[in-house]
Amino acid sequence: MSRRGAARVLEADVCVIGAGAGGAVVAAELAEGGADVVVLEQGPRHDADRFSARPIEMMARLYRDGGQGMTLGSPPIILPLGRGLGGTTLVNSGTCFRTPAPVLERWREAFGLEALTEQALDPCFARVEQALSVAEVTPELAGANAAVARRGAEALGWSHGYLRRNAKGCVGSGVCAFGCPTSAKQHTGIMYVPRAEAAGARILTGADVRRIVVEGGRARGVEARVAGGRLEVRAPDVVVAAGTIHTPLLLARSGLGATSGQLGRNLALHPATAAFALMDEVVDMAKGVPQSFYVDEFAAEGIIFEGVAGPPSYVAMSLPLTGRRHAEAMANYRHLAVFGLMVSDSSRGSVRALGGRPLIRYDLEEADVARFRVGIARLEQLLRAAGAREVYLPLPHGVAPERARARDLKPMAFHPLGTARADARPAHGVVDGELALHGVRGVHVADGSVVPSSLGVNPQLTIMALATRLAFSMLGRDVPGATTDAEVPCPS
Ligand SMILES: Cc1cc2nc3c(=O)[nH]c(=O)nc-3n(C[C@H](O)[C@H](O)[C@H](O)COP(=O)(O)OP(=O)(O)OC[C@H]3O[C@@H](n4cnc5c(N)ncnc54)[C@H](O)[C@@H]3O)c2cc1C
Ligand code: SF4
Repeated sequence: MSRRGAARVLEADVCVIGAGAGGAVVAAELAEGGADVVVLEQGPRHDADRFSARPIEMMARLYRDGGQGMTLGSPPIILPLGRGLGGTTLVNSGTCFRTPAPVLERWREAFGLEALTEQALDPCFARVEQALSVAEVTPELAGANAAVARRGAEALGWSHGYLRRNAKGCVGSGVCAFGCPTSAKQHTGIMYVPRAEAAGARILTGADVRRIVVEGGRARGVEARVAGGRLEVRAPDVVVAAGTIHTPLLLARSGLGATSGQLGRNLALHPATAAFALMDEVVDMAKGVPQSFYVDEFAAEGIIFEGVAGPPSYVAMSLPLTGRRHAEAMANYRHLAVFGLMVSDSSRGSVRALGGRPLIRYDLEEADVARFRVGIARLEQLLRAAGAREVYLPLPHGVAPERARARDLKPMAFHPLGTARADARPAHGVVDGELALHGVRGVHVADGSVVPSSLGVNPQLTIMALATRLAFSMLGRDVPGATTDAEVPCPS
């Protein structure tokens, strides 16, 4: 390291910005492949020994803005993001889905992403799944809340199953979203960051990247703010992985990615809501894996049900009731069950900087409101089929699902995607199918922002598989286990 004026200067082959789902994976694979890597992460390094499992306290520590990020629009949507080594994987539920085949097909047709076939991505997914010990939740660990949903789905004959997760040695403590106290959840901060460090990568936390430096159409490095001053990393390759909300802001303030007019646009959120049920049986939803079971009967309509659950303080914040009804429901906490629904959205929002912070605009269009109406009605059906005595819908008192308007919904969103979308055509996307920024050499993007549409399922595995593919392509090697063109059997 050398000093020049007030700025510390580091030299590297690759500078990776952000250590979440995309950044940590790309950094580890590159470092293990022999590249000299510097990772700059804005948030801190979190120590699981200090995880208290208390929602309010942990949200303040692990989430950006305490988890209170919001969109502006109708309806406003809470959009929580993680911050620190592991990024949002630190606070996520651990659910693992591969990109559904019909989604990949649509990407090929709509965005010219010809190389992203199921077959081509298979070794990338397999490598991530192995690294993260992805496995199906057992019924015992899934807990009584999942058993309620399963009973309902079986009674109705709806397609369902236990989710696949990256949680090795999970004890079902039920607080995945507030920092796994046992480190069972294999988030990238404990699985990929240590691998990167062991392979020689330098990981700097508290490093807020302000600008990517490009000269003569080629990346030269980045400039960041760190405790005590400024930092320059000089590197011919930069991988941006600051996440769907912050990557477009960073590219914009670096004067990059604007040619297509798509930077910061095409924001898909996969908005979600949940309904509670009062059961005769004791559910004790805080025991067991909160997100362990799914119902995908209506996936083709863009509606998927997935478990959510939490301790009493979480339920008190989430119950769609007020006053005496809220107090009565909370008094019956041990008999409460809850299940979530997510809508594969066709609405699109945008993000831009206002006063240095992200301003996120997103209006739920009528087609998605209609999906919510149908989804909430079916969620009620599911819970009643499971034997619910009462169902508490996420709607104002007296509003039936079929009459719900956008402003009646109180969605949250956990899966922002698309603000630097991949499209083979420079006039339509910010990066190409290889995740390289159109028109610039040496800048790649490896996070949710490149995913060009809503997936209909949880996105972490898609982001990690794309990051794996990018790392090996930057190293000029095949992903281990990849089938080369010569080996692809010819259809006869
Ligand atoms: C509560 C919750 C539950 C979820 N559950 C699931 C689930 O079960 N399964 C699933 O597949 N997905 C889940 N997700 C979503 C999933 O975790 C994210 O889609 C994924 O982590 C996004 O990866 P990313 O690389 O785009 O960004 P992130 O993982 O958010 O990482 C971005 C990183 O970049 C850093 N950064 C930002 N700006 C800068 C800057 N200027 N300089 C340096 N660093 C910067 C951030 O601090 C952050 O650490 C969940 C999300 C939430 C909020
Ligand atoms: S249920 Fe508990 S032990 Fe299992 S992954 Fe979540 S927080 Fe960790």
